[in-house]
Amino acid sequence: MATTDLRRSRVALHDGPSIPPLGLGTWRYGESARSRADEVALIRKAIDIGYRLFDTAEMYGEGGSESVIGQAVDEALRAGDVARQELLIVSKVYPHNASRDGAIAACERSLKRLRLDRIDLYLLHWRGRYRLAHTVEAFETLVAKGRIGRWGVSNFDTDDLAELWHVPDGSACAINQVYYSLSRRGIEFDLVAWQRAHSLPVMAYCPIDQGVLANAAALQPIAARLGATPAQVALAWLRQRGGVIAIPKAAREAHLRENYASLDVVLDPAALHQLDALFPPPQSKQRLAMT
Ligand code: NAP
Repeated sequence: MATTDLRRSRVALHDGPSIPPLGLGTWRYGESARSRADEVALIRKAIDIGYRLFDTAEMYGEGGSESVIGQAVDEALRAGDVARQELLIVSKVYPHNASRDGAIAACERSLKRLRLDRIDLYLLHWRGRYRLAHTVEAFETLVAKGRIGRWGVSNFDTDDLAELWHVPDGSACAINQVYYSLSRRGIEFDLVAWQRAHSLPVMAYCPIDQGVLANAAALQPIAARLGATPAQVALAWLRQRGGVIAIPKAAREAHLRENYASLDVVLDPAALHQLDALFPPPQSKQRLAMT
């Protein structure tokens, strides 16, 4: 198996810095007090393995996921396992909290649960009833106060982004997080090209299609030839698209390790060709996939 130059596969943000092409999703974390200690231990394990990007939201476990990450990161920082500036913490505001004042208050609550003084990337989870201009105003206020590093959106299609770009400061948006995997390629029809043209990276959620691709029989022969697993093939494929950050969720250490090791999997032209035949790109506009 060839080794990828991980520095080269980092994804550039429009204003200069770059971020890792792989992070850990934490939907379903923080939903039960009984599993809290295990989840905190798993996040710490993820940091040991090398994960630096963690995706959460005020929605996940109604703050429970943020709280688990907060405890694990706090412990890891105190233990000297990682430096704060190496980490990239992503969280999201509920649309019903995304008013001018509401987004600021929601961010402060998230910061408290995360035990941090800054969220690195703060996203609008999906479009709601508040005007984009007001949400952007709140986000820009949070940036000015240093409470967030950057802001972005999630579940935005091409028309939503075009609208956002017409709002004052709308083009400061750093990322769009959408459903994207080998088996869900709909955004390749126009959204991916739009984002590339505007230097807006794609953060791919459900990158292994909620576990489905890990068990896809069609991926077995390709994975076996490359000495990889189907989940790793699915993640390597996303990384090799360029400008894509995948955030697979894992609640088992074996999955954490397997997914991280996808960074060493390189798909050759024959594999890419086979994958295109198995999972063809879209021929027409498709509705944005959402969970
Ligand atoms: P996913 O990452 O595609 O799949 C997660 C599922 O796959 C889990 O059941 C996990 O099992 C399993 N899995 C992980 N690695 C595996 C491996 N190597 N082999 C076999 N099975 C494996 O789907 P997701 O959790 O829905 O999405 C990922 C993240 O994206 C979420 O956690 C969340 O942070 C974010 N997200 C965002 C939105 C949004 O609207 N912005 C929506 C959905 C998700 P175990 O858990 O048992 O390890």
